[in-house]
Amino acid sequence: MPDRAAAQALPARVRSDFPILDRTVGGAPLAYLDSANTSQKPRVVIDALAEHYAEHNANVARAMHTLGAEASAGFEGGRSKVATFVGATRPEEIVFTKNASEALNLAAHTLGEHVRLGPGDEVVISVLEHHSNIVPWQLLCRRTGATLRWFDITDEGRLDLAGADAAGLINERTKIVSVAWVSNVLGTVTPVADIVARAHAVGAIAVLDASQAVPQFAVDLPATGADLVAFTGHKMVGPTGIGVLWGRYDLLADLPPFLGGGEMIEVVTMEGSTFAPPPARFEAGTPPIAEAVALGAAADYLTGVGMDAVAQHEHAITAYALERLQAVEGLRILGPTEPVDRGGAISFTLTSEDGFDIHPHDTMQMLDARGVAVRGGHHCARPLHKRLGVQSSTRASFYLYTTPQEIDQLGEALDYTRDFFGRHR
Ligand SMILES: *Cc1c(COP(=O)(O)O)cnc(C)c1O
Repeated sequence: MPDRAAAQALPARVRSDFPILDRTVGGAPLAYLDSANTSQKPRVVIDALAEHYAEHNANVARAMHTLGAEASAGFEGGRSKVATFVGATRPEEIVFTKNASEALNLAAHTLGEHVRLGPGDEVVISVLEHHSNIVPWQLLCRRTGATLRWFDITDEGRLDLAGADAAGLINERTKIVSVAWVSNVLGTVTPVADIVARAHAVGAIAVLDASQAVPQFAVDLPATGADLVAFTGHKMVGPTGIGVLWGRYDLLADLPPFLGGGEMIEVVTMEGSTFAPPPARFEAGTPPIAEAVALGAAADYLTGVGMDAVAQHEHAITAYALERLQAVEGLRILGPTEPVDRGGAISFTLTSEDGFDIHPHDTMQMLDARGVAVRGGHHCARPLHKRLGVQSSTRASFYLYTTPQEIDQLGEALDYTRDFFGRHR
């Protein structure tokens, strides 16, 4: 039996830090089970945004007055805090972007040029990727004539590194390998060290999409061996509008610029321009200043809670939810049903008593009317759903504030949904 008390300890400590969790929806207490989509924000992050605008607002780098200096210090302070949070060797390894998608587009554009990708070359991703780690590589391959190749998954929903197809997938033609660390649909944790080693063995560059990893457990990005790693602020209790591309500094220093504009140049003449060193080279125009300040506050908050406590809670609440969901008749979990090497997202399909599929949008609406917020659809992972042989799914996802009571509320709402569609179909 999963330990209910173990899944209660952390939310009991942190829940009051998140003002939105006091809300009701449809007359019921809100059960926010969509944190893999975006997390809720603690008061300290909301306050950091407001305080920046109320007291220190100015542009960075180009404003020399007192407020400009304060804003620059806040912005660079945010960068330093994020660097420490992910184990970066120096703050200059942290490039601020708009979100993880932009970070991966930055990686694809600049790496394509850096490795002079062309016909005959190959880029390897996997079938469990989020669209953000598929489409930029498709676009790059289309532009350059390179070939995109895919790791498959096992029937359990784990990255298949042992299968016959996996053996020759990374080879001397491979120039770039890019995979998710944690699947946003299946919750599976991928063996990133192994994948990075395979990439490096053939001289390829290794990229990780850590959008679901950085929020859920303590990471040391240099220790993964990866060359570039993307993640996003809003899934780690930070604000929207800011993402991160971490990179090995010597690689970043070798990469060409991505977007052109102010602050990313050294000298601009009518004949051409020279470019600033990283991270400024990749941060054209006014950056997300208040967002960087608030992301720093988010990193401090998570550090204060303790990332090991967050990871332990994700494990406990996922174990509890796996058990409860499997008690719902007609519910099929996509991906591993044991809480091993698994993050806090569970996607599932639901059929009515007489065997008809209940559409995830219907499930989502039925749950919403009972205060339970989940996501229904393909979760930006169409190829994965196709591979699993389903159109779409419903996903419940958890974070440090998720309580067993919310899982119970989800379970009851699902039982009700199944019963409702059995009677009224
Ligand atoms: C959310 C997510 C992204 C995209 O993040 P954005 O902030 O929307 O750009 C990419 N990959 C994974 C695995 C995600 O969960």
